[in-house]
Amino acid sequence: DVAARAADLWKVYGSGEAQVIALRGVSVDLERGRFTAIMGPSGSGKSTLMHCLAGLDTVTRGQVFIGETQVTGLGDAGLTRLRRDKVGFIFQQFNLLPTLTAQENILLPLSIAGRKADPDWYKTVIETVNLSDRLGHRPSQLSGGQQQRVACARALVARPEVIFADEPTGNLDSRSGAEVLAFLRNSVREHGQTIVMVTHDPNAASYADRVIFLGDGQVVDEMTEPTAEAVL
Ligand code: ADP
Ligand code: ADP
Repeated sequence: DVAARAADLWKVYGSGEAQVIALRGVSVDLERGRFTAIMGPSGSGKSTLMHCLAGLDTVTRGQVFIGETQVTGLGDAGLTRLRRDKVGFIFQQFNLLPTLTAQENILLPLSIAGRKADPDWYKTVIETVNLSDRLGHRPSQLSGGQQQRVACARALVARPEVIFADEPTGNLDSRSGAEVLAFLRNSVREHGQTIVMVTHDPNAASYADRVIFLGDGQVVDEMTEPTAEAVL
């Protein structure tokens, strides 16, 4: 059961002398209910792959699927719907709206989509992400770790097909980072969420079920049940 698929994906930026080939025929199947990390040196194509999978960037050649939806070939309206209904995002910089409370931030994607949170699920997410006593706070009143937990809850509450996390622990100290990673792993193990995470950090990657290594726009290696030592 595949939640996201890239099939012979090519991405070329620019043209002529400025041309950069960011992806050179990447094929990956991301199984539903698994936590996959993407690693590789700076410039190896990690962000590009994630952006193409999530429908944030166009593809030069090849195909992308999210669930049954063929992302390549969708028009602007279809892409907007895909981003709204099928995928969730967690960013290095948290990207919370500063004027909204934690609760309002968490519920924003659902209210934009015109959907209501399932009350039991909402309660579960708030409890497992350990935020019950912070729901009325604005982002500026929260620590980095708390802000990222709000962002995790925001991504998870809509139960998207796939959550894409771009260096989610890049701005956190190791203790806050470990809390966020444990929450992500728990949402995979306990609730069957599918998560794809780009990271530079071998310790962060060790929370994943599988690591895909990119080098110069290609998949160069992969590993299941990674440990931090093995990834390094
Ligand atoms: P990573 O996330 O692994 O650091 P990226 O996917 O950001 O790698 O970049 C892969 C390559 O594509 C790099 O050479 C980068 O400079 C280039 N690149 C990425 N985005 C653009 C863009 N918008 N325009 C031109 N080149 C880009
Ligand atoms: P990171 O590796 O932390 O993801 P990058 O520097 O690769 O950061 O990319 C940050 C943003 O800048 C991305 O949206 C990417 O598409 C864009 N970008 C990266 N390289 C280039 C480039 N050479 N030209 C234009 N945009 C780029």
